[in-house]
Amino acid sequence: MIRRHVVVVGAGLAGLSAANRCAELGLEVTLLEQGSDERYLCNSRFAAGFLNCGYRHDIREGTAALRQAIEAQTRGFADPALADVFASQAGEAVRWLLGHGLRLVTVYVEGNKRRGVLSPPPPNKAGLHWHGRGTDLMLRKLAAALEAKGGRLLRGMRVTELIFEDGRCRGVHAEGRAFEADAVVLTDGGFQADAELVRRYISPKPECLLQRNAGTGRGSGLRMALAAGAKVKGMNRFYGHLHSRDALCNPALWPNPVVDNVATTGIVVNAQGERFVDEGLGGVFIANTIAALDDPSQAVAICDNTTWEGRARQFARPPNPGLVRHGATVYRAGTLKELASLANLPEAALLETVRIYNEAVAGGQSAALVSARSAQAIKPAPIVTAPFIAIPICAGITYTMGGIAIDERCRVIHESDRPIEGLYAAGSCTGGHEGGPVAGYTGGLSKALTFGWHAANCISEVAVS
Ligand SMILES: Cc1cc2nc3c(=O)[nH]c(=O)nc-3n(C[C@H](O)[C@H](O)[C@H](O)COP(=O)(O)OP(=O)(O)OC[C@H]3O[C@@H](n4cnc5c(N)ncnc54)[C@H](O)[C@@H]3O)c2cc1C
Repeated sequence: MIRRHVVVVGAGLAGLSAANRCAELGLEVTLLEQGSDERYLCNSRFAAGFLNCGYRHDIREGTAALRQAIEAQTRGFADPALADVFASQAGEAVRWLLGHGLRLVTVYVEGNKRRGVLSPPPPNKAGLHWHGRGTDLMLRKLAAALEAKGGRLLRGMRVTELIFEDGRCRGVHAEGRAFEADAVVLTDGGFQADAELVRRYISPKPECLLQRNAGTGRGSGLRMALAAGAKVKGMNRFYGHLHSRDALCNPALWPNPVVDNVATTGIVVNAQGERFVDEGLGGVFIANTIAALDDPSQAVAICDNTTWEGRARQFARPPNPGLVRHGATVYRAGTLKELASLANLPEAALLETVRIYNEAVAGGQSAALVSARSAQAIKPAPIVTAPFIAIPICAGITYTMGGIAIDERCRVIHESDRPIEGLYAAGSCTGGHEGGPVAGYTGGLSKALTFGWHAANCISEVAVS
């Protein structure tokens, strides 16, 4: 067998999984990471460690259950070939990951058991806490394992260009150096932190979105792939949450608490005091809808005291009391009229919006509202009990769901629908797994792990054949 050389671009979970697996399978591998610190930042390090599929499903549940979950979460949007790979490979990939001395534990969210969380999970506190937590530990263990298996992790190496010869990808340029390779794997984590790309695909005003991420996914993989003629998929959707608008300038308010529970149990209105989104489709969908508005900086979540003292206290790191405790604006008033005045919303319009909404909820007719409110997944609660609550909110972008199109072997697909020779991609820089009509989420870490690991398996099969 010829020892083929693989270059992997970006050392998050996707890149470290790909590189480790390549080294294990006898390939020479160089992993290039732009961050220069030993604990360089990336989304994988910031993650809470839920290794699941569509929130509820432990990725060890088995092929049929996972396949069904992807279908349900994305309402059939996910590319069937990629959904099949994920469903059939995720279990083996996670067993492989755990073989590096990691442990999964069970946590409780809103009273529900969530299995499959990397240990130790982050504390139940507002703000960002990753030092020594499960995902930090995972990246450090994988980096050490790579060195032990003979692979190279070079930090401070920002890849800027792909090298092509006779239509085949032959390596990359980074920091003035050329790295030759038989295969290149793009795992740079998406384009959420690049304002120009976010403006092109997601929101007319990226400056109004909260960067709920490590700031490292700046779309370099996407740009390089596009320059090579790659196809892209599902570009307008992102995974994210709803936040207090104050989180834009107060770091204590992100990545938690999120305001999803308030918004999905109550209502979300615009500057005219009108509903404009189906709150029943969840926080990720609402965040996507707000981001796409001409002005994403005007949305306000409204609920009553029953929701505020009930569901708003139940989520992990909940908005009540987290928001007030950390300085977020939460308007509270004895009447809706007063609330409108505090939140600078037109009084008559807000009263009318709440009246129509309450009537529809009481009559079980929320689906017939002008802006339909589905009730299957998340039940709407009436807004009737004082004090009433209003929270100015914004959309927080965690990672982009759309990206470079790949086939079932993680090969980057050209506009002509043929794979680009020698070029692979995995993790958050790829598209076609998630998103679609309801911005369906299947799992960021599990996608990175499964496809990074799978890309290496596929490269190794070509190398030995
Ligand atoms: C606060 C937060 C909480 C989350 N919680 C969860 C969770 O509990 N469960 C879950 O499933 N998902 C979660 N996610 C999402 C998850 O973290 C990501 O989907 C996943 O980690 C993506 O992995 P990746 O390897 O594709 O990208 P990343 O982890 O972002 O890694 C990409 C790497 O590429 C590097 N890079 C970028 N450009 C270049 C370049 N040009 N040259 C060299 N290197 C480059 C970056 O520096 C980075 O290190 C969370 C994310 C955040 C921000």
